[in-house]
Amino acid sequence: MTVGDVPVRDSLVDVHIGKSRIIELVNGSFPTLQNVSNRVVLTPEQSVDLARSAIDATELCGSPHSELEILPTDGDGLLVYCVRISSKRPLGDFEVLIDAENGREVSRQNLMVYSRGDGMGAVYTSNPMHGNVSKERLPHLTSHTLKGEFADVINEDADCSVATDDVHVYDPDNTHFDEVNVYYNINRIHDFFRKLGCTLMDKPIKAIVHYGDDFDNAAYRPFENTIIFGDGKLRRDYAKEECICWHEYSHAVLQQIVKLFYSSESGAMNEGQADYFACSLSNDPKYGEWVASKMGQPYERTIENNLHYPEDIKGEVHADGQLWSGALWELRTALGADIADLLIFKSFYYLKSGSPRFMNGVNAILTADKNLFGGKHAKDITAIFDRRGFNRVFWGGAYGKKDIAKVLMFQRMHRE
Ligand SMILES: [Zn+2]
Repeated sequence: MTVGDVPVRDSLVDVHIGKSRIIELVNGSFPTLQNVSNRVVLTPEQSVDLARSAIDATELCGSPHSELEILPTDGDGLLVYCVRISSKRPLGDFEVLIDAENGREVSRQNLMVYSRGDGMGAVYTSNPMHGNVSKERLPHLTSHTLKGEFADVINEDADCSVATDDVHVYDPDNTHFDEVNVYYNINRIHDFFRKLGCTLMDKPIKAIVHYGDDFDNAAYRPFENTIIFGDGKLRRDYAKEECICWHEYSHAVLQQIVKLFYSSESGAMNEGQADYFACSLSNDPKYGEWVASKMGQPYERTIENNLHYPEDIKGEVHADGQLWSGALWELRTALGADIADLLIFKSFYYLKSGSPRFMNGVNAILTADKNLFGGKHAKDITAIFDRRGFNRVFWGGAYGKKDIAKVLMFQRMHRE
């Protein structure tokens, strides 16, 4: 399929004709494109330079190749240069898509097939309160350190673990243990989102363990696309608990799709989805059991709750995220993990950037259901969110007791 002379990416149709000359199978994809959203400003040579500096290729094998293509994106087409670079350093056959108008890197893949890639490491597969250390496969390694196709883990307190046989086995109190644990758990959450159809994270995300001094938190830094793990102070070491890593990674996934302001309802939805995916993958609604145990608490948050909108709003994104994650967890209980995970992930694509409200979040899930399942679960979805109060639009701006009082007064006046 082409538009003008420009080929449309991933639009290939196979027609299988049997011996009796009848068509037995037709498969492939026909993306529908409403319009092309950008134009060609850059030359192919410029796209090669941009792609080369994006992957930081210092030594090449052969000359790079660049071709103009149309990338289908949610109904629209984007003109991109598909740049193919065989590189010695870093090692790989890279395919980089560069926006033909503004030079932005749209995606990157290393298509090289590695003869090796799996190592082994000592890790916690569940949080340390639930299980002991076990030796597990470390997939997709591209170096003898904890650097691979989907994770690049750095130790702020020491040189990185190096193992020429790719076996990284340490005791939990060894400084390298956290590197291995984070590498392993990033790959698990990467593969989880990959199963939902997400290829946006098919590049190494940076993660730093033993971050800062007494840093009593973990965080995702969108500007650097990096996750940081503190050693804790009031709480325990964040890198040892699998769901902390998965929570931060879910922020990174959302960030690739839609940019939400980190306050009010959009901030709460961002936190709520991160708790949801962490808890869904661990199949446990209690979040942060290990880190909170140092303070004698059973968990940091639980997403199995009956919080109700808007009166349970506290005005803090993590606390308010629990209203959202509570509804998502109920959706998972009603529809099963596979369907709920898929709907919630795909709903990111229907959220507007900026400050969408909870109502917009509900509509995004309903739209995902309509497109994926023909609206089969609309009744269940609506019932759950309505019962939790998300059928109302709350006041804009900051939440305080005054705002909540105003809403309650409004509801009384209108007999809601
Ligand atoms: Zn968070």
